[in-house]
Amino acid sequence: MSAFSELYQEIARCQQCEIAKYRTKVVPGEGAEDAKLMFIGEAPGWHEDQQGRPFVGPAGQYLDELLASINLRREQVYIANVIKCRPLENRDPLPTEILNCRKWLERQIELICPKMIITLGRYSMAMFFPGKSISKIHGTAQKRDNVIYYAMYHPAAALHQPSLRQAIEADMLNIPSLIAQAESITEAKQQPQQLSMF
Ligand code: URA
Repeated sequence: MSAFSELYQEIARCQQCEIAKYRTKVVPGEGAEDAKLMFIGEAPGWHEDQQGRPFVGPAGQYLDELLASINLRREQVYIANVIKCRPLENRDPLPTEILNCRKWLERQIELICPKMIITLGRYSMAMFFPGKSISKIHGTAQKRDNVIYYAMYHPAAALHQPSLRQAIEADMLNIPSLIAQAESITEAKQQPQQLSMF
């Protein structure tokens, strides 16, 4: 069995949080196992919980459009979430849920070894850019241990607040040149951080 199938089976067996009892399907993530770009959202919503796939509702359609703007299809990248089960009533993920689920995301990152990790929204950003504000750092790249970290607004936020659309669309358009210039981006001075929490 491949390392990915094994991981997905382990995730499917996880019952660590209360919300695991209420899920229709767990949503581990999907995409190219050798993807250069890894997008990390927040948590599955209703559509994702029904299908067991990330970003398949309206926010996902918009993410597909954003990917198309840089000539990519979702099969060419990897898409995951900070937590793998849908929080009831689509509430925000709880700190304990994020903590419990963190090991799965760490294993996904280890297996995929992406060149660039793109955080979508506040919760995902908080893991890699602790203490930062999304309105200040969206669209800026930081390189640590040869991985480029890049924060973007959440596609759902841009759908609800049209004023963010211009920013998210411009930030997406920057990705190809960041990847192309990866070598010339200076490493951040701070110690490389593993996933951090708040
Ligand atoms: N929002 C997310 O953060 N993730 C999904 O998979 C869907 C919507």
